[in-house]
Amino acid sequence: MSMNYQQYLSKTAMGLEPSGIRKFFDLAASMEDVISLGVGEPDFVTPWNIREYAIEALQDGFTSYTANAGLLELRQEISNYLNRRFNVDYRAEDQVIVTVGASQSIDLAFRSILNPGDEVLIIEPAFVSYSALVTLAGGVPIQVETNASNGFKVTPEQLEDAITDKTKAILLCTPNNPTGTSLNKLELTAIASVVEKHDLLVVSDEIYAELTYDQEFSSFASIPGMYERTITVNGFSKGFAMTGWRLGFLAAPQELIHVMVKIYQYTTMCAPTMLQMGAIEALRNSSMQVEKMRQNYWRRRNFTVQSLNKIGLECHTPGGAFYVFPSIQQTGLSSEEFAAGLLQEEKVAVVPGNAFGPSGEGYIRCSYATSIEQIETAMNRIGRYIESIEKKKKPKLENVK
Ligand code: PMP
Repeated sequence: MSMNYQQYLSKTAMGLEPSGIRKFFDLAASMEDVISLGVGEPDFVTPWNIREYAIEALQDGFTSYTANAGLLELRQEISNYLNRRFNVDYRAEDQVIVTVGASQSIDLAFRSILNPGDEVLIIEPAFVSYSALVTLAGGVPIQVETNASNGFKVTPEQLEDAITDKTKAILLCTPNNPTGTSLNKLELTAIASVVEKHDLLVVSDEIYAELTYDQEFSSFASIPGMYERTITVNGFSKGFAMTGWRLGFLAAPQELIHVMVKIYQYTTMCAPTMLQMGAIEALRNSSMQVEKMRQNYWRRRNFTVQSLNKIGLECHTPGGAFYVFPSIQQTGLSSEEFAAGLLQEEKVAVVPGNAFGPSGEGYIRCSYATSIEQIETAMNRIGRYIESIEKKKKPKLENVK
């Protein structure tokens, strides 16, 4: 019997757009000799001491559930880490949850604060999950568009314009995916005054905090008056090169954490135990490796930005993460056309900017989380691709009267 599943499926779930990142990633994976600047994950393997610690934990039989919020020992390390690195104080006992990736932290944050119809401001271009997670939690994502003219930094005026009496929270992501834009203390303080004035909460996605290059990273909760209003999201995926471990964490005022733990105990129970053990080692003994990776990304960023500008793709120098977001507007192509052509003709995978919202149109996201040699080859190929576009644009001599 053939079933008509449409009538069974959730309208909310069916209404979600598929991620524009995956589409290109899947296409690239099916081709040979492709250089991928497409996916947002470190090319480094997790440092050995962290892997070894998790292996030993498994050998030692750490295979049962932990507390819903995670091993207390790990939460204590997270609390120490947040204090040591970002000068924010969270109690391990009741202000920290270990999650299955920062992705789940964001999901928990929205589910715990949103009632149907509540609006959340999403600053675009933005990581693809935010809007979907707000929608799944019954909220309404409201796009606040930024642009290249000021390095994709949101201004208090832009936020003010988007705020209504239904606005409950702002999602901040710094350093940002996909633009790499990093907000400094002054800029965060300006945002904080809008948050205070309109009595809002902030979900602060700080997953790229360790990958900050030209200035000190400022955690939003450390801005005066913001600690009580902030849900801090962070994790191990990027800075510690642990994407496949699926481990993140969040920290927030105790009353919010209490509700999140209730949701978490029914949906997930706890993050994998032996991997939580590895994360303890990551926070205790990996700062040198993390710093080495950061310096490596910094060199790659400088090289990538220089190369793109040389090719003629205008590109601001991002302060963090491992992405650059150059303009492709002078080619006259849409970002999807540009990315599709680049993949077909030169076998370089990038993500079209419109995957991150309408304000990303006219840009592409290139991840430089790959070797300098690969980046160099990719840049040569992109240069050749631009030349071929320019040639196609030039009128043939015989047609010029
Ligand atoms: N936030 C941002 C801005 C990201 O780029 C990503 C991963 N691409 C995540 C959250 C999710 O991270 P995790 O792997 O910890 O779920």
